[in-house]
Amino acid sequence: MTLKRKILTGYGVSFVLMGLVVAWAIANLIALGRATDAILSENYRSILAAENMIDALERQDSGVLLTFLGDDGEGIAQYRENEAVFLEWLARAKDNVTVRGEADLVRSIEADYGAYRKLFSAPGGPRGAEAAARPGVRYQQAIHPIFAKVRQACIDLRNLNERTMYAASVRAGDVARRAIWSTALVAALALTAALAFSLLLSERLVRPLRRVTEASRKISSGDYGVQVPVEAGDELGNLAGEFNQMARRLASYHEMNIEQIIAEKNKSEAIISSIEDGLVVFDTNLRVASINPAARALLEMPLGQGSAPSCADILPDERLCQIIRAAVENGARPALPDERRVIAIRKGETTKECLFSVTAIRGGDRRLSGVVLLLRDVTRLKEVERLKSEFVMAASHELRTPLTSLGMSVGLLLEHAAAGLAERDRELLQAAHEEVQRMKALVDDLLDLSKIEAGRIELEFESVSVATLFDHAKAVFKNQLEMNGVSLTAELDAAAPPVRADANKITWVLTNLISNALRYVGKGGHIALAASVIGPCAHLSVRDDGPGIPPEFQSKIFQKFVQVQGREAGGTGLGLAICKEIVRAHGGAIWVESAPGQGSKFIFTLPLAR
Ligand code: ADP
Repeated sequence: MTLKRKILTGYGVSFVLMGLVVAWAIANLIALGRATDAILSENYRSILAAENMIDALERQDSGVLLTFLGDDGEGIAQYRENEAVFLEWLARAKDNVTVRGEADLVRSIEADYGAYRKLFSAPGGPRGAEAAARPGVRYQQAIHPIFAKVRQACIDLRNLNERTMYAASVRAGDVARRAIWSTALVAALALTAALAFSLLLSERLVRPLRRVTEASRKISSGDYGVQVPVEAGDELGNLAGEFNQMARRLASYHEMNIEQIIAEKNKSEAIISSIEDGLVVFDTNLRVASINPAARALLEMPLGQGSAPSCADILPDERLCQIIRAAVENGARPALPDERRVIAIRKGETTKECLFSVTAIRGGDRRLSGVVLLLRDVTRLKEVERLKSEFVMAASHELRTPLTSLGMSVGLLLEHAAAGLAERDRELLQAAHEEVQRMKALVDDLLDLSKIEAGRIELEFESVSVATLFDHAKAVFKNQLEMNGVSLTAELDAAAPPVRADANKITWVLTNLISNALRYVGKGGHIALAASVIGPCAHLSVRDDGPGIPPEFQSKIFQKFVQVQGREAGGTGLGLAICKEIVRAHGGAIWVESAPGQGSKFIFTLPLAR
C-alpha cells in the first residue's frame, strides 16, 4: 500500500467512526422524535376529545335543566347545539382508539350517551309526560344518573389517556437519557478507536524514518555496514531500499579508499626501502619518525630499537643536527654549497663520507610536519676525486720542469737568434713561445688547483685589513690599467674590521677576479672593489661594467674548464675554480650577480678576525 493510500485510509477510518457517531445520534434523535410524536398523536387527541365531550355534555345538561325550569326554547337549543359538538368529538375519539381499554370506554360512552339522548327525546320531552308534576324527581332519578355516568366515562377516558401520556413522556425521557448515554459511549469508543488507529498509523509511518535517521547518524560516524529493514512496499520502503543501496556503495567506496591508501602506503614504503641512499624522517620534535634500511646500515642502527631516538642520538655530527633544527624552526631548506653538505660517519675502521640534504615536509594545509634527511654515500666519489687530483698534481708537476726549460730555451732563441731568422721562422718561434707560456700557465693553474683540492696547500691565516688586500691587488694591475684606459676604484668603510685570511691567497683571488674583469670590460671601462660587513662575515666584491654573464652560466663558471661560449679570451677556465677552492678553504663562499649587458659582480665572504 502506498504512503498516500495509508494516510487516506487513516483519514477514512476516522471519517467512518465520525459518521458512525453522527448516525447513532441521528437514530436516537429520530427515536426521541417518534416517542414525542406518539404522545401527541395517540393521547393528546383523545384527551382533547374527552375534554370537549365533558364540556359539551355539561352544556347539554344545562340545556336540560333550562327546560326543567320552563325555558324550553333556550334549553332545547342549547342541548341540540352541544349534542352535535358531543357527537363530533365522540366520533374523533372513536377514530383515535390507541390505548388498551379505550375502546370499551368509548363504547360505554356511546351506549350511555345514546340512552341519555333517548331520555331527552322521550314523549313529553326531558321532563316526561307522567312526571310533569314532579320535574325535580324525574331529573334526579332518571336524567342525572345517566348524565353523571357518561360524564364519568368521559373523565375516565381523559384520565386513561393522561396516564398513558405520562407513561409515554416517561418513556420519551428514558429514550432521551439512553440516547445521551449511548451517543456519549459510541463517541467515546469511536474517539478511542480513532486515537489508537492514529497512533498506530503514525508509529508505522514514523518508525522507518526514525530508522533511516539513526542509520544516517551511524554512517556519519564511520559505521558503513549499517542497513535499514525494508518493511513495506510503499514510498518509505522504497526510501529504505535506496538508503541501503547508498550505504552499500559508501561502504565499498570506503573499502576501496582504505585499500588504495594501504596500497599507496606500501608502495611508498617499498620505494623508501629500495632507495640506495639513506633516508631519515624526523618529526617536529627532532625524533626519528621513519628510517629506511640504507640509513640504518649507514648509521649502524639495529632494527626494532625501542622508543624513537632523537637526532643527536643517531647523527655523529652536531652541525647536521643544528641544520635540521633550523629547518624545523624556519620551515626552509638550508642553502649550503655542496662542499659544506658533506659529513664523515665512522663505521668501525673506515670512515664514510656522506653528502646530505635536508628538506622540510609540509602537509596539504602548509603546516610543517617534519624534516627529511637524505644521506648519499660519496666516499667512493671523493676517493676518485682525490686520486684524480693526485694524478693531475703529479702530471702537472712532471710537466712543469720540461715546460719551464722549453719556455726558457724558446725565449732565449727569440732574444738572440731571431734577428738572423727569416720572417716566417721568427713568427713560428713567436707562436711556439706563446703556446709554451699558455701551457705553462695551464700547468701552474692545474698544479695549484689540485694541491688545494688535495688539501696539500698550507694557509697562513693572519688578521689582515681589507684595505691592505685591495692595495696589494691594485698594485699588480697599475700598468695594465693605464695601458687599457680602465679605471679601478675601491669603496671601503674605514672602520671595517680586519678579516682572518691568508693575505697572499686572497690577493691571488682578487687579482684573478680583477684580471677577468679587465679582460671583459672595454677601453674606458670601470672596475670597482667594495667591502661590507654582514653578520660575522666580510663581503668583498669586484664589479665591472663588462658584457655580463648569462644566468645559465652563473653557477657553472666556478667549475673547472667551464667558459662562457664565444668568450674564450685565452684563459684556462680554471681561475674561478681555484678562487672557489681558496675561499672555501677560508670557510667562505663565492658567487656572481650578473645580467647580460649589465656587467658582473663577483662576491666572496671571509670570516672576520676576532
Ligand atoms: P678563464 O681563465 O677562462 O678566465 P675563469 O674560471 O677565470 O677562466 O672564468 C671562467 C669564465 O667565466 C670565463 O671564460 C668567462 O667566460 C667568464 N667570466 C669570468 N669573469 C668574467 C667577467 N668579469 N665578465 C664576463 N665573463 C666572465
